[in-house]
Amino acid sequence: GPDQAFDTSEPGGRRRKIAILTSGGDAPGMNAAVRGVVRAAISRGCDAYAVHEGYQGLVDGGNMIKRMGWDDVQGYLSTGGTVIGTARCKAFRERPGRLQAAKNLVKEGIDALVVCGGDGSLTGADLFRAEWPSLLQELVETEELTEEETEPFAHLNIVGLVGSIDNDMASTDITIGATTCLHRICESIDSISSTASSHSRAFVVEVMGRHCGWLALMAGIATGADFIFIPERPPSGDDWQDNMCAEIKRHRDLGKRKTIVIVSEGAIDNNLKPISSKDMMDLLTDRLHLDTRMTILGHVQRGGKPCVFDRNLATMQGVEAVEAVLASGPDVPSPMIGMNENTISRTDLMKAVALTGDVAKAIARKDFVGAMDLRDPAFNQQYDQFVATTLSNRVEPISDGEGEKKKDHGLRIGIINVGAPAGGMNAAVRAAVRYARNRGHTPFGIQNGFPGLIAGHVKEMKWMDVDGWITRGGSELGTNRDQPSLDLGMVSYQLQKFNIQSLLLVGGFEAYTACLEMYNARNVYPAFCMPMVHIPATISNNVPGTEYSLGCDTSLNAIMDACKSGFLAVMSGLAVGATSVYIPEEGINLTRLQKDVRHLCQRYAEDAEGKSQGRIIIRSEAASKTYSTDIVSAIIKEEGHQQFDSRTAILGHIQQGNSPSPLDRVRATRLAISAVEFMEDHACGLSSASSMASNASAGPAVYNKDPESVAVAGIHGSNVRFTSVESLLKHTDMKNRKPSHTWWMDYKRTGNLLSRRSDLL
Ligand code: ATP
Repeated sequence: GPDQAFDTSEPGGRRRKIAILTSGGDAPGMNAAVRGVVRAAISRGCDAYAVHEGYQGLVDGGNMIKRMGWDDVQGYLSTGGTVIGTARCKAFRERPGRLQAAKNLVKEGIDALVVCGGDGSLTGADLFRAEWPSLLQELVETEELTEEETEPFAHLNIVGLVGSIDNDMASTDITIGATTCLHRICESIDSISSTASSHSRAFVVEVMGRHCGWLALMAGIATGADFIFIPERPPSGDDWQDNMCAEIKRHRDLGKRKTIVIVSEGAIDNNLKPISSKDMMDLLTDRLHLDTRMTILGHVQRGGKPCVFDRNLATMQGVEAVEAVLASGPDVPSPMIGMNENTISRTDLMKAVALTGDVAKAIARKDFVGAMDLRDPAFNQQYDQFVATTLSNRVEPISDGEGEKKKDHGLRIGIINVGAPAGGMNAAVRAAVRYARNRGHTPFGIQNGFPGLIAGHVKEMKWMDVDGWITRGGSELGTNRDQPSLDLGMVSYQLQKFNIQSLLLVGGFEAYTACLEMYNARNVYPAFCMPMVHIPATISNNVPGTEYSLGCDTSLNAIMDACKSGFLAVMSGLAVGATSVYIPEEGINLTRLQKDVRHLCQRYAEDAEGKSQGRIIIRSEAASKTYSTDIVSAIIKEEGHQQFDSRTAILGHIQQGNSPSPLDRVRATRLAISAVEFMEDHACGLSSASSMASNASAGPAVYNKDPESVAVAGIHGSNVRFTSVESLLKHTDMKNRKPSHTWWMDYKRTGNLLSRRSDLL
């Protein structure tokens, strides 16, 4: 049956019993992890257990260790905190506590434990595993258990899932809960920003992070804060307070009405002296006479419903944890399930814990460079990117770790939005404008896409022109779907007239085809012989050359329903636990509808009396021409024979979301900065700003016909990579306007597994 997709019983016929517990501070997404483990375990033919109240439940035993059925985890995806409870358990730190825990596990017949918690919890778990044989031996010696009882459980399998809002664990790019926590922080700072602007105030906001500045850094980038203070990278120089005050004054002189400073709980100066929010408030009040308020966000940061990213991360990791249990043995080191390069990974749990401890040690000996190096490679770079888009003065190019190679050019950069609006478009334009100006370039905003360019609506953009854009949805520049072929000659003329030497296109598939049109017309129009970068921004995530487009995370969080590509349907289906997901990549047919109806009838028949649940089917807008949402709904209703009813909701433009999600804001900033650097690298033939000025009325001074100079800026795992539009052609399904390969189809399989659809696997 659907509960047992695979048989994993041991040679003696014993069914594997896998338990999960949540420990340490609660983190949003822990419930999704529990659901993932429970359902994956059942699907794999194992029995699933939940240990309540963390290690305390293990020590106490009895009804703290509960067998879990498929429906026991219903509703877990959308619930914050941890339903099965967590605790800080003193007893488990001592051997007698662990002895008791071992006895309880053997009594229940459990020999696999998935622990979701922070580094402390995972250390405890590995210690428990290492001690396990000696604990069993002692239990036999003291006659608490017999040899026959312990014999089948000679080895304890431990798998770690990292549930921690701080994102402070080494060997994984992200931990369960950190992204939701970032959502809460950004919502709070966005709210604070509007009151700060209204009253022309300064706000000092304290966020969590005792040893890790990830939350402060990401929130700084995502909210466009003026300054951040984190434990790993104290402000440099003894005169940092003077520099900070001078910079804030410059911002104010430029017309900024608000000042936001984010302080990590663990922020310190070069001498390890804590930098407290109160110190910061006093500094701004006394030195700059700003009307300054302080907000300590505290536990608000942990709360609320998990964001899509955390639901999906925890779900995928929960499923992987069960696979890791089934693959482990006495000789395999305890694995920790992480996320690297956008892929769920398994690493050595104890190595990860040791590396995590190394950061705190490096900070303690004032080795701040070492501490930053121990964070993931993007961390250092993102700190520099925060500074580069926040400071109003000249900045150095941001090192990509491959040595210094960039020249100072002084380019005239045109920026245009193409296609439908998507969350993060404005954030990308803001970062491009700020970074370009700080690098000595002159950015120009092109209004309303290509029709705007044809009409000559091009305007220089100053530092303050993009103030506050990071939080805004839609397209501030104005966007349009029309292609350059509307009037290629006029597009070329206007680019030449304004002496645009590099073009940044932020938009969807239309921006990709626009790049292609101009690239293909280079022989006819020399004005197109310049570097062009396309930053993908579309909720459909259907641009080749990137794993994620700007806007799709915002959209997923706004709503999870029908869309032109299957991406949103699959990812939102996973996040809400949909019963079935119809996508264009697979289409809809009668056989599939019959399967779904049969499944629904069976599931509703199984529901306890009076406890029927709602079930969700997600249909992509373009899944089928024949089987419309209404037709599918009518068929389901008819076939339900009054066992269940069916209703539809077509979500439409609501899906574009309003304010962009933190992930989209951070991705936008990163891509925009990389895009400007790409332009610098590919702008040959222009050596200085002065040559640009002398060429102002002639054609473009940058003449680059290299196919590599027209590229899509893509997100690939934790890297930004540029791929020429020409070379992407072979990976593009032009007819259906999407990439030929869709990496997210694996998620669909997991979605089916966890919604009990082994008939679709
Ligand atoms: P957070 O990131 O929220 O602090 P954490 O998992 O690091 O999470 P801790 O309080 O360090 O939180 O640990 C949680 C529980 O794990 C402890 O209360 C204890 O029961 C167990 N634990 C932690 N460290 C050890 C250890 N060295 N040996 C045995 N058990 C431990």
